[in-house]
Amino acid sequence: MLYRLKAEGFEAHLVGGGVRDLLLGREPKDFDVATSAHPEDVRRIFRNCRLIGRRFRLAHVFFGPDIIEVATFRGHHQGGETDAGDHSERNEDGMILRDNVYGTLEEDAWRRDFTINALYYNIRDFSVVDYTGGLEDLRAGLIRMIGDPEIRFREDPVRMLRAVRFAAKLGFRIEESTETVFWSLGETLSQVPAARLFDEILKLFLSGYAVQVYELLRHYRLFGTLFPYTESALEIEEQGFPLVMLVQGLANTDARIAEAKPVTPAFLFAILLWEPVRLRMQQLVAEGQSELQAIQQAGDEIVSRQNLVISVPKRFSLQTREIWNLQVRLKSRGGKRALRLFSHPRFRAAYDFLLLRAHAGEEDKELADWWTEFQTQDHHGQNGMVDKVADTRSSAPRRRRRRPRRRPAGDRT
Ligand code: ATP
Ligand code: MG
Repeated sequence: MLYRLKAEGFEAHLVGGGVRDLLLGREPKDFDVATSAHPEDVRRIFRNCRLIGRRFRLAHVFFGPDIIEVATFRGHHQGGETDAGDHSERNEDGMILRDNVYGTLEEDAWRRDFTINALYYNIRDFSVVDYTGGLEDLRAGLIRMIGDPEIRFREDPVRMLRAVRFAAKLGFRIEESTETVFWSLGETLSQVPAARLFDEILKLFLSGYAVQVYELLRHYRLFGTLFPYTESALEIEEQGFPLVMLVQGLANTDARIAEAKPVTPAFLFAILLWEPVRLRMQQLVAEGQSELQAIQQAGDEIVSRQNLVISVPKRFSLQTREIWNLQVRLKSRGGKRALRLFSHPRFRAAYDFLLLRAHAGEEDKELADWWTEFQTQDHHGQNGMVDKVADTRSSAPRRRRRRPRRRPAGDRT
């Protein structure tokens, strides 16, 4: 790939996470290439190539299962917003809306985010090109913003989340002048398009270091901008089990990733948004709704408000809400209900979620144990278990209901 670009007369280097991870002796997740070739050149040279991005145009070149991101060297933005014409654009807060001004290798280095991400591997002589002091920071374990942190984070507030992600993943410290602006610029994250934040949230929390990420985000007061409803729920009950449940859930996520088990975005958001849903549900129950109605409405409300900040695609948020609804439904096990729940596509996730809640002292351990036992039984044993539970139609939930059953419009979406 690199040789091919060179043969065509272009400069081409490995850059970014791949170089950083190789130098740290870690296995690189993927490789990024920086080149003097323009996207159109890359497309001409590689047939298996697709140009993507508007804000930041680059080429994806496919090699079997791997995708290599090929970016053209970025240069300085000249003068005001309009000078660079169609290629570069900022809003009045200095946020970069488009960055397609091309430049030299050195200019490219200074436009990258952190020094440890601006190291280039030169295949011609196997040397590392370092304009920004990245090698030294790599040795010292520091995440340092290139240039003036205030300006560079305003250009792209997502860089704060990237700093947190690299700090958690590499066990690095965020250098002082870099981190001080977090407390004042945290709010600017709300200007970032909600769809881009969704992608970043997945990278943050599904990288295997979710607990550290969460702690850093709260430390820098970035968590509240991303998850305002969770933040206020936690402030109400900081001392109680909610925190345990959230952190425990993230720890489980990390453990699953360490064992190479799948973790779905739906389950992740079920954990991250559970506190506000639980509190809202309690309110609605106190106002006389059934638990099932209450959890459906609470889930609906929190998901749609949260979506304004981080847009979770519907295919995931529907599953998230099923996991929540099942927390109520798993309590009624009489008749044919247990078997029906058992074959629900979200049963496994809902059961895992129930375990977490039981573990945090939020739900009776007996209920969780019952379902654990149920899964080990054969058909006959399962029937026996169902016969023993006394929660058929006439029992507890109905007695607690203060108002007649009413199905609110829009309880299914
Ligand atoms: P990962 O291991 O997650 O792939 P990475 O450092 O390679 O980490 P990428 O998102 O793949 O991260 O980006 C590749 C490189 O592009 C980065 O190392 C960095 O030099 C540059 N880069 C990415 N995003 C930004 C940004 N928002 N601002 C400035 N430079 C960026
Ligand atoms: Mg990368």
